[in-house]
Amino acid sequence: MNFSELGLSPKVLEAITAAGFTTPTTIQAEAIPHALQRKDVLGLAQTGSGKTAAFVLPMLTLLEKGRARARMPRTLILEPTRELAAQVHEAFETLGKQHKLTVALLIGGVAFEPQAAKINRGADVVIATPGRLLDHMERGGLLLNGIEMLVIDEADRMLDMGFIPDIEKICKLLPFTRQTMFFSATMPPEIHRLTTQFLHNPVCIEASAPSSTAASIEQYLVKVPHDAAPKRDALRMLLRTQTKVKNGIVFANRKTTVALLEKSLRKHGFSAGALHGDMDQSARLKMLAAFRNNEVTYLIASDVAARGLDIPEVSHVFNFDVPIHAEDYVHRVGRTGRAGREGHAFTMVTREEAKYLRAIETLINKEIPYFDIGTVEDSGEAPEKEQRVPRGGRKPSRHREKPAAREPAAIVPAVARPVAENPVAEKPVPQARPQRQQEQRRARPERELEDAPESGGFHKGNMPAFLLRK
Ligand code: AMP
Repeated sequence: MNFSELGLSPKVLEAITAAGFTTPTTIQAEAIPHALQRKDVLGLAQTGSGKTAAFVLPMLTLLEKGRARARMPRTLILEPTRELAAQVHEAFETLGKQHKLTVALLIGGVAFEPQAAKINRGADVVIATPGRLLDHMERGGLLLNGIEMLVIDEADRMLDMGFIPDIEKICKLLPFTRQTMFFSATMPPEIHRLTTQFLHNPVCIEASAPSSTAASIEQYLVKVPHDAAPKRDALRMLLRTQTKVKNGIVFANRKTTVALLEKSLRKHGFSAGALHGDMDQSARLKMLAAFRNNEVTYLIASDVAARGLDIPEVSHVFNFDVPIHAEDYVHRVGRTGRAGREGHAFTMVTREEAKYLRAIETLINKEIPYFDIGTVEDSGEAPEKEQRVPRGGRKPSRHREKPAAREPAAIVPAVARPVAENPVAEKPVPQARPQRQQEQRRARPERELEDAPESGGFHKGNMPAFLLRK
């Protein structure tokens, strides 16, 4: 399949070539021809599947006819987070270079007036988060009765963030005759209800099995003891020993852990930056840009801040904590291995977190093997107490004035390696399931984590190699 067979305009085809896209992805090949016929589209697709271009490209083609009127935009794209909205805005800058369209980005955390002025002049495209869109409407600066096409992106994320009532309110103000494109990675009942309410005879497209992780991502578990300090030792060990690590996103479950981890990694000489929900918008965008431009090698992030972000070349994802919601695992791991590239994901698992693994493995329908990282010598890093992070980003400077980096943990060869010597380099050969399961059972005492003795969690027989400190 070729882009030229989809019915897109010559101007759009030129932009596609300039962007370096050669072949449409599944969601693009299947959604674009229907979108161009002004049909409603329901796409089950994750980020990384190319779904942004699946709505941007037909929208650009359709917008070539007609023009915008003051305060009455022609198309509306709803996104759950400011970062996602900014990302779609970037897609318009790349793919809509030749179109000279007015694209208004209506997100919170930035000045209201320039946004209002842009809509007032007449916007072809409005990309918005629901809250800021409603603000503009309530102040009378925005009318939705000229909308020809509505895109609801990441609908399941909207649900998680409590935006469904806002979405319903917005949809009721749009013309009945508009076209709707609706995207979600999963289809819980609440989302299904929305689709029956707001889509008319939609063409349903499933780009990939919902809640699956891409085949191009190698995933491993790393067993760690309960405390945060050994977890940090293990993380540094991975960062230093994984030869393919070019950059990475380290996910933690709590904002406080994000801030602490950033500080710890910097102290140990790593280039690290934090991204969490308490940072203001400009700090978040600045950090993302620094990571994209390779000025920061490791982005330490919380789920809310990082979900759906499109950073094309992330070599590794590290889950410092096992995500509590299985679907977050899919979203985190989906930050690497994008657009068919090779990706690597390591998840640290303590005894207490093992209970979340079952749900994850059931959701992705595969067992994640354990990876033995070898022996880590204690860095001597004192356990740090998690502190509250002030709004707007990093902790006050007194926290940063601690003594300079201590000696990094010395790396000693592993004493026992039940798993492949270097699984990242040597892909395990797929085997028939029963035999593979037997081997995994032998190599993975970790499955019995919950049965391990209470004191310390491990006994001599199942002690992971890297815990045998000198
Ligand atoms: P998305 O799923 O929309 O977040 O897109 C994921 C990434 O894939 C983005 O970096 C896009 O620029 C890229 N992409 C989208 N469509 C294509 C394509 N047809 N060929 C190559 N890369 C693409």
